[in-house]
Amino acid sequence: METVKDKTLSEKALRLIEMEDRYGAHNYHPLPVVLAKGKGVFVWDVDGKKYYDFLSAYSAVNQGHCHPRIIKALTDQAEIMTLTSRAFHNDCLGEFEKYATEFFGYDKILPMNTGAEGVETALKLARKWAYNKKGVPENQAKIICCQGNFHGRTVLAVSLSNDPESYGGFGPFVPGITKIPYNDTAALAEAVKDPNVAGFIVEPIQGEAGVFVPDDGYLAKCYEICKAANVLFIADEVQTGIARTGKMLASDHENIRPDIIILGKAIGGGVLPVSAVLADDHIMLCIKPGEHGSTFGGNPLACRVAIASLQVIKEEKLAERANKMGELFRNELRKIESPMIKLVRGKGLLNAMVIQPAHGKEAWDVCLKMRDNGLLAKPTHGDIIRFAPPLVITEEQLMEAVSIIKKSILSFTA
Ligand code: PLP
Repeated sequence: METVKDKTLSEKALRLIEMEDRYGAHNYHPLPVVLAKGKGVFVWDVDGKKYYDFLSAYSAVNQGHCHPRIIKALTDQAEIMTLTSRAFHNDCLGEFEKYATEFFGYDKILPMNTGAEGVETALKLARKWAYNKKGVPENQAKIICCQGNFHGRTVLAVSLSNDPESYGGFGPFVPGITKIPYNDTAALAEAVKDPNVAGFIVEPIQGEAGVFVPDDGYLAKCYEICKAANVLFIADEVQTGIARTGKMLASDHENIRPDIIILGKAIGGGVLPVSAVLADDHIMLCIKPGEHGSTFGGNPLACRVAIASLQVIKEEKLAERANKMGELFRNELRKIESPMIKLVRGKGLLNAMVIQPAHGKEAWDVCLKMRDNGLLAKPTHGDIIRFAPPLVITEEQLMEAVSIIKKSILSFTA
């Protein structure tokens, strides 16, 4: 095990890592650090060392670790009632549904738990709509998606993927999927000519792919193409939503209102898995009682946590903060002179640095060095480091984080 060779790890950390390795499935390759506590933009390891969290659990902790208001909502409700299932009504669900639909401006919401379930829900809804409303012949509905996407890990989600690491060895796949290049409106215009297309699912920024920001106007043009072809425009905002990119939704940057929005991650405030699909009645009511659901979806605990999570985003003006801090962050990173920095890109506080290996050191080594210097981030696709701190970060903290990143990168080429 390579972590055993990591001389910086304490006996305690090594023991915990070895336990995961021995008893857990090997479906992740974590950075060797064992965390035990989180508060705001910081996390602490089992030995008490403090780090800036520049991953935010893949943007699930936008409000910061253990936000007092969200934790209070959790603990207050946990003492009263946690789960009813949807076999009965509960006194939290309606309030959450009212709050969230008014918050985002849609007729209806369908709560689930994980992002992948949100994606599953949205695509089932699109298929149902295609049969009930568009007149697509039974079992002929198609979904268009983009190459380079990441929509989760279920069989449907990996059926959408063109990354062999995601789909390899997991076939047979869900049929009725057309993959087109991202950031290519001509390809979409061609694909929607098929009259059986139900919907087009797209990430406003491709997060897992390495924070690929499409051209300005791309989303608006895609939306227009979908409208003209009577195809549902489905925005997967699981990672980009809830203020991460500097607006409440990344779709807001182009003033579009998707037919279906998928939310996850930060709608649960980094506390509970909460996901949700938003749509208007003419779409959402295509699903009838008994046709879709989840035992935990819409549970009282999740509803209270989600309301508090959205309130924090709004009241602490975290979208505005993400926008301002993101500008500053990219500007500062672009000032660092190193042959290892190929590119810095992003929107709001969803950013990435593309690393050019130097002296045998690559993105993984940069992340280890940043860890040693007190900042956690994780490479994706070998050469890209995503930087996505909690949105509550202050200017002073951001500048300190930039100096850690700078020092770490320059240490390889000095
Ligand atoms: N959709 C997008 C855009 C994502 O980034 C992710 C996770 O990273 C998912 C869906 C899946 O979410 P979850 O891991 O909660 O299933």
